[in-house]
Amino acid sequence: MTTFVRPDPLPGMFDDIFWKYVAQEDLRLQRCSQCGQFRYPPGPCCPNCLSPESVWTSLSGNGRVISWNEFQRQYFPTMPPPYVVAAIETDEGPIMIGNIPSPADAMSFGAPVTVYYEHTETVSGKPLTICQWRLQD
Ligand SMILES: [Zn+2]
Repeated sequence: MTTFVRPDPLPGMFDDIFWKYVAQEDLRLQRCSQCGQFRYPPGPCCPNCLSPESVWTSLSGNGRVISWNEFQRQYFPTMPPPYVVAAIETDEGPIMIGNIPSPADAMSFGAPVTVYYEHTETVSGKPLTICQWRLQD
């Protein structure tokens, strides 16, 4: 699998805990303590019931491809094309974006995927772990 040196992340206000778990190879999202809905991206309250209470809960690590695109243009100096960027609907509901290390013609709507963790570094030399997705066999 190709590993790219990545641009330095631009952390959001509520992302720290998400990235801490990803560094431990544990994909967790906030799950509302009141209605049980998972939410992504991380935020201060549930978009369904507005409760501020949540618990960081592990996901199954499985989902399905709902959209994808093969990038042909080089946007980052350390990430030469082509590479696939996909929208994954996790089994728990939230939609996440990631790379799939397969050619675009291997993609199909609804294709099952499993999370994996890519250990790389940023352009400024900091270690970085990101969650990615691979097609299930
Ligand atoms: Zn809720």
